[in-house]
Amino acid sequence: MTERLAKFSGLLHIRHSVQLTFISIFCVFLVVALGLLNIFPTTVSRQIVFNAKQSALLNQASIFSASLAALELLGVDGVEQVMELVDVNEFDRVIVTDSAGVTLYDTNQRESMLGAVCDFSQAVRALGGEVVFSCYYDGDTFFSRAAMPVVSYDAVIGAVYLYDEDEEQAALINSIQSQIRSISLVAGALTMLAVVCLTHGLTRRLRELVDAMRIVREGNYDYRIAVRGGDEVADLSAAFNDMTQRLQSTDELRRRFVSNASHELRTPLASIRLLSDSVVQSENMDVATMREFVTDIGSEAERLQRLTEKLMRLTRMDAGAVTAEKTDVDLKKVAERTVHLLEPLAQQKDVTIYTELESGVVIRTVEDDIYQIIFNLAENAIKYNNFGGNVFLRLSRGTDGAVLTVEDTGIGIPEADLPYIFTRFYRVDKTRSRQFGGSGLGLSIVHDTVRQNGGTVTVARRETTGTRFTVTFPRQMEAGAAVQKGENEP
Ligand code: ADP
Repeated sequence: MTERLAKFSGLLHIRHSVQLTFISIFCVFLVVALGLLNIFPTTVSRQIVFNAKQSALLNQASIFSASLAALELLGVDGVEQVMELVDVNEFDRVIVTDSAGVTLYDTNQRESMLGAVCDFSQAVRALGGEVVFSCYYDGDTFFSRAAMPVVSYDAVIGAVYLYDEDEEQAALINSIQSQIRSISLVAGALTMLAVVCLTHGLTRRLRELVDAMRIVREGNYDYRIAVRGGDEVADLSAAFNDMTQRLQSTDELRRRFVSNASHELRTPLASIRLLSDSVVQSENMDVATMREFVTDIGSEAERLQRLTEKLMRLTRMDAGAVTAEKTDVDLKKVAERTVHLLEPLAQQKDVTIYTELESGVVIRTVEDDIYQIIFNLAENAIKYNNFGGNVFLRLSRGTDGAVLTVEDTGIGIPEADLPYIFTRFYRVDKTRSRQFGGSGLGLSIVHDTVRQNGGTVTVARRETTGTRFTVTFPRQMEAGAAVQKGENEP
């Protein structure tokens, strides 16, 4: 029963398949084409025979008629004498009548009409002055009839009637017809077989693709489809594999991001838990120690807050969410405000911040984006600096657009780590970074924010010591650039 159901659903599947549609359309075309191929040549050859018969019979009839016209008055003897001089044997029957329709001559001995009135319609019409020809094909024989008046001095003095049966030509046409039919059947069967095989191959490959999509949809991103040949289906398979590869990388990135994020969140949470347990469990804790513990809890909570803020920012950027409306942002002002905010951190490390900021560098962007970029770079330049080191913050307007550089005389980044420095959660020295409250997300935020704004960020080691980050914002971002463009447009 279930087998039958499966078969039935299989049939239903076929009903909607591309293969069946192809085969049905092709069948219709094939039947029409083969039908035409069978009908056309036989119709034409039949017509050719008709025409040949017509000219042959009428030619002869006119020769007979002209010969008889010389008699002026038709009689049995006179007609017989004339008819002996012409060749009547190529026809199955030749009849000559007088003007009243009485048969004077008949080559058919068995059913001879001699002396009787010839009532063949063609002969009757010929006596009325008409030249008549008719031909009929019954599938095996061509039956041709021709009749012509015998005219002497403008008067119809009799009629000539010719009758011809031709089986030879009919047999020839029949043999051509049957040969065309056999060739059509073989060609049709072979073409049909080829179409079934081809469409089967095509639909099998399409079904493979659909199956592959289902497998990938179920989460198996490792699955790849075999790319065979160089046709459009092969292109589709290659595109599918490429898309799956991308999905797999995105999925891997997402997993790594989630796992790294949970790991990063776990550390401060564990510290908070440990510290709060200590406070709760120790009965005789003095106020100073308790205050110290609570302060630690506070700084861990602060770290947690910073981390979640960064995570949320990155997630928002990944989702392509529009953060805020763009305004004309004066980069110098944002840089000065950021330096001011970082002053206490710099003092803690005895780091001097030098600034060279060109005025009037205004770009159209979101102010918080610029703040995030400068803050993260400058904070790192202080955090990863040596005691008593320097930070140089420069802003200028280059030929390619606004250029912001953050340089430090700090510990530097090893050459091997430079390509990965903008990767999420990447840290050169984990313990050192954590010690500064780092999460490995700051530079990712810088990178993604700069890119979202159409700019570029690069990193390089400084000649002697330290690191240099260069951010470039393209000219078209400069305030007024879009307006000018709009004005110049036709
Ligand atoms: P973190 O929050 O750990 O600072 P970042 O993404 O800002 O995360 O930086 C990634 C890593 O790059 C840091 O852990 C640090 O090892 C290195 N780094 C970033 N900026 C500098 C710098 N100016 N000098 C030396 N190392 C740096």
